Amino acid sequence: SIKGQYGKHFAVYDETLRNKLLREQEITDSMEWALSEEQFLVYLQPKYATEGEGRLAGAEALVRWNHPEWGFLSPAEFIPLFEKNGFITKLDQFVWERSCAILRQWIDQGYPRIPISVNVSRADIYQANLADVLVGFIEKYQLSPSLLHLEITESAYTENQEQIIDTLDHLRGLGFIIEMDDFGTGYSSLNMLNEMPLDILKLDMKFIQSETAKPAEEGILRFIMGLARWMELSVVAEGVETKEQWERLCELGCDYVQGYYFAKPMPAREFEKLLKSEEEAAAQRKADCCQDKG
Ligand code: C2E
Ligand code: MG
Ligand code: MG
Ligand code: MG
Repeated sequence: SIKGQYGKHFAVYDETLRNKLLREQEITDSMEWALSEEQFLVYLQPKYATEGEGRLAGAEALVRWNHPEWGFLSPAEFIPLFEKNGFITKLDQFVWERSCAILRQWIDQGYPRIPISVNVSRADIYQANLADVLVGFIEKYQLSPSLLHLEITESAYTENQEQIIDTLDHLRGLGFIIEMDDFGTGYSSLNMLNEMPLDILKLDMKFIQSETAKPAEEGILRFIMGLARWMELSVVAEGVETKEQWERLCELGCDYVQGYYFAKPMPAREFEKLLKSEEEAAAQRKADCCQDKG
């Protein structure tokens, strides 16, 4: 009967909704404990400069949750929930501090100095003590603020613009570098882009990942690159997965690239190996250069 079908339909719907709520409740119940038990890990994904023979130019800090029973959880599962329940502020501060500790360790080891980009959630921007917290970490680990890049997703810029402009102006004044993340996914107008205190545009991967480069898309990409140059912003492309995509981005004049084609996000220990080989490559370049002169 129709009634029966509806009943079934609702039962199925209810079941999944119930599962979702239960899952959310479980996550909420265990997040504080997880933080104190060091279940959250900071992974790093390298960024490379298209110039200078693809030199290692930075890293993005991406959080991972290694749960003792559930295994590795994707940020897609817990970040939106933490943004709702407010825990994101605490977790982000943990990621920022961990990133600063890693930067300090690299400096002490004598590795080439490259910045780490951290994600700053929309909720973080409204915390009155945001700048104090960041400056606190910079001072604690004796770093230059320019080594910490702040990635803020494009959609966060569309509301309370005056407040965001003030906050970003202040942070930039202190020496932090501001990146607009996921550029091209939101609703930012060109006018807004012009008013926002920014240093770097981070192109969303949808621009790079379309299978065939349609003429219109090609035009949009070229337009963005030209606009960025005009506004003196650097451009980072994320989600680069193939050689073809990389070559195309080089042609377009994109400054930095990041993606699985180069490397997936990895533990800090593993990232250190990249820095070590970069150090050797730099020494080799220097030796070659001296040989040429001699
Ligand atoms: P996002 O900041 O735009 O980060 C880029 C995402 O793309 C990361 O996913 C990264 O692992 C993934 N990615 C990198 N290269 C490739 C590629 O070549 N192909 C594909 N398909 N994906 C690639 P992840 O780590 O799962 O993070 C997802 C999102 O969760 C991030 O997007 C960011 O918005 C958020 N997130 C991650 N860590 C943090 C954090 O510590 N704090 C906050 N507030 N948000 C975070
Ligand atoms: Mg990001
Ligand atoms: Mg992004
Ligand atoms: Mg993204």
